[in-house]
Amino acid sequence: MILSSRVQKLSPYVPGEQPKDRDYIKLNANENPYPPSPSVIKAVLDFVQNNPQKLALYPDPDSLELHEVIADMLNASGGVLCRTKVASDGTVEPAEQDKIPFKVTPQMIYTGNGSDEVLSMVFYAFFDSSKRFVMPQFTYSFYPVYAGYYDIPMDQVPLKEDWSLDVDEILTRAQKNNSGIIFANPNAPTGLGLTREQVRQMLLKASSDEIFIVDEAYVDFGGESCIPLLEEFNNLVIIRTFSKSLCGAGQRLGYLVSNPELVNIVTTVKNCVNHFPIDAVAQVSGRAACKDVAYYSNAAREVARERDDFYNFLNSKGFYVLKSQTNFLFAKHPSISGAELYKRIKEQGILIRHFNTPGIEEFVRITIGTPQQMKMLRAAIEEII
Ligand SMILES: *Cc1c(COP(=O)(O)O)cnc(C)c1O
Repeated sequence: MILSSRVQKLSPYVPGEQPKDRDYIKLNANENPYPPSPSVIKAVLDFVQNNPQKLALYPDPDSLELHEVIADMLNASGGVLCRTKVASDGTVEPAEQDKIPFKVTPQMIYTGNGSDEVLSMVFYAFFDSSKRFVMPQFTYSFYPVYAGYYDIPMDQVPLKEDWSLDVDEILTRAQKNNSGIIFANPNAPTGLGLTREQVRQMLLKASSDEIFIVDEAYVDFGGESCIPLLEEFNNLVIIRTFSKSLCGAGQRLGYLVSNPELVNIVTTVKNCVNHFPIDAVAQVSGRAACKDVAYYSNAAREVARERDDFYNFLNSKGFYVLKSQTNFLFAKHPSISGAELYKRIKEQGILIRHFNTPGIEEFVRITIGTPQQMKMLRAAIEEII
């Protein structure tokens, strides 16, 4: 056998389809329907035109400037873009409920080639075959993939009847086996979130000797960020991404926010795999994005507004829809299966996501697009239902 025993056991992540046969309206991978800020385009053009030699050199291995502006962005927005106050001169202030009671510093930031890669370093750093983790049964489906890749035993806790996290059971199982905890907040694919105070109560009950990871990929669209809790809990790691609210899935940038000690540990792991994960162009575009908080605040607000409109539309059509704090809706209809609905909508040139997973196979997950795209999806659904 030419393959290692490790590789024979792998089961890779299956992303939302990216078809090339036809120009579909893509509402299946939770990408942002809006382009990056004009200042990102300008910065990238400037960089390649005026500094071509920099492409022949290695990038900054520490991404220091990028970490500085990520910290600035979090301090300016409070970590929830859709609720910021944007003044007419473009300055941004966090909403009262989102204010971070300390200054996030660059030493609290670690970046990677998408938050998927950040997560892989985090899983390597904090779990192994004898250090397991607990997660909800339905959450980001990459976590079980890493468990397989790194041979980490995992403990999956079913969601409650109303699709929210079973917080008590997660804590009980974590205590039983001295396990870490990971979940997305707001969660995927449900779109439901815990409040910061609910997460704080979990952290108070969980062991401070075990890692506690909160994936905030969607928090900018209306959840509550746990960044303010970093002051109180040294075992907390928060994962965030440029792929959703920062209109940057193509540039592959993700980051974590934690205390500098844990950031250093993850950096050590990274330096054993690839010293330069963030390429020079991604560093430039990422920096420009973080400096235009007003643009992304407005985009996140647009998406959140459209989401709430579409929630009402689906309700009026007889769907059961979860109240989302994200850029997608998770819904099912009593008279058509999830698989059938997905197929019929695809025939109309629109891609949404259907999971063939027992327990959620009746649902579809719909990414929120532009008002024009959602108008076309409304028309398609009107015809089918
Ligand atoms: C999209 C997503 C990610 C991955 O984002 P990338 O930065 O594009 O790798 C991580 N976690 C959750 C919950 C997501 O939905």
